[in-house]
Amino acid sequence: MTIIDTPGDWNAITDDDFRQRIRSFLEANYPSELRYPSRRLFWPEIGFWYRKMSAVGWIAPNWPREHGGMGLDTGKLLIFYEEHERWGVSRFLDQGILMVGPMLIRFGTTAQQKQWLPSILACEHLWCQGYSEPNAGSDLAGLRTEAELKDGEYVLNGQKIWTTLASDGTHIFVLARTDKVAKKQAGISFFLVDMNQPGVRVRPIRDVAGHDELCEVFLEDVRVPVSNLVGAPHEGWAIAKGLLGFERIFLGSPKYPTYALGVLARVAQARGLMQDPPFVQLFAKLRMAVEDHTACYERFIDMVKRGEPVPPDISMLKIIATESFQAIADQVIRAAGEAAQLRGLARVGDSEVDVLGPFFRAMPSTIYGGTNEIQRNVMAREVLRLPS
Ligand SMILES: Cc1cc2nc3c(=O)[nH]c(=O)nc-3n(C[C@H](O)[C@H](O)[C@H](O)COP(=O)(O)OP(=O)(O)OC[C@H]3O[C@@H](n4cnc5c(N)ncnc54)[C@H](O)[C@@H]3O)c2cc1C
Repeated sequence: MTIIDTPGDWNAITDDDFRQRIRSFLEANYPSELRYPSRRLFWPEIGFWYRKMSAVGWIAPNWPREHGGMGLDTGKLLIFYEEHERWGVSRFLDQGILMVGPMLIRFGTTAQQKQWLPSILACEHLWCQGYSEPNAGSDLAGLRTEAELKDGEYVLNGQKIWTTLASDGTHIFVLARTDKVAKKQAGISFFLVDMNQPGVRVRPIRDVAGHDELCEVFLEDVRVPVSNLVGAPHEGWAIAKGLLGFERIFLGSPKYPTYALGVLARVAQARGLMQDPPFVQLFAKLRMAVEDHTACYERFIDMVKRGEPVPPDISMLKIIATESFQAIADQVIRAAGEAAQLRGLARVGDSEVDVLGPFFRAMPSTIYGGTNEIQRNVMAREVLRLPS
């Protein structure tokens, strides 16, 4: 493994120098066969890579240095993620890095920070996100998992669903109702739960692609120490909302449409479609849409870099990104002909292409991170000021 020079303060070097260091490291070290996988990889497949990232001190680019992170400023952080996206690096079950760490640094006690942060940095604890429930997805505040204080401990009962990679998880952060009488949002608390204990059961859900990265998590009389409550009782909603920071911008990144366009170009070349005028027109239209999207994305990136708050029309970006991704993934299938009948690598002309990969990744993208209908509601209400 190439280990690169680590400056004392990453923010002191130029953006170009920083980008080059990240790029060289990824190109020299990240295995090419794991670039742009068609699904999220499981810990046994990708854990070795994140242990390396941990070893070089790059596991938590978004955390302050005093807590063991890289302490990147916003501009550098965006570059860090852009380079990972550019090289098609697979994500792991990274909710500990993305959510639990920042949440504890902001809302946790010193004792909680000492207890939990080091094991996230060392990749010993893998955290999954226990928010959604059957009948409580878009309407998250309608959740019914309950936590009751009994004999000095909370006892949790309920069910979570669509929990990404819960089968890899060692811990789960859970929103649970602690006050059944209060207004919906007011009676919810935020808990840190060890999954390796009686009463926690994980059941993977097999999806249409044959993958089982999403899971149900059942909680039956799960005992949680009071010290695992983050923030005050009944105030978990504010913590959950407080975590929605500028990360939202990544949901609107042109990464996936750009990647899918690359797959479409390969399939089209292999099948001689680049000589077909109607196809070329269609391709040009899709390509221009991706260019427009990229320009729009960069406008938001500039705002974030200037330290401005992310405006509500950021919802537009997620809609454009995901619907463009789906449209291109659909054209990959049309262009591939009979090769589109096969999952995994299929022979197209002289190439091997994962024809259905973009499709399987694109389909759920309009659902997670706030469905596109909910994003349109936000646009209607907060940008266009339409009557509700
Ligand atoms: C790939 C993937 C990974 C996920 N990972 C996680 C995870 O790790 N942890 C976790 O907690 N959750 C996770 N989720 C769940 C995700 O947050 C929910 O699926 C999402 O919030 C939608 O909720 P729902 O599935 O219950 O659909 P519902 O909220 O029931 O919505 C069903 C349909 O109705 C529409 N709809 C609902 N309300 C309105 C409204 N007010 N106006 C207009 N239309 C509306 C929706 O847009 C949708 O089309 C994941 C989902 C996916 C697809």
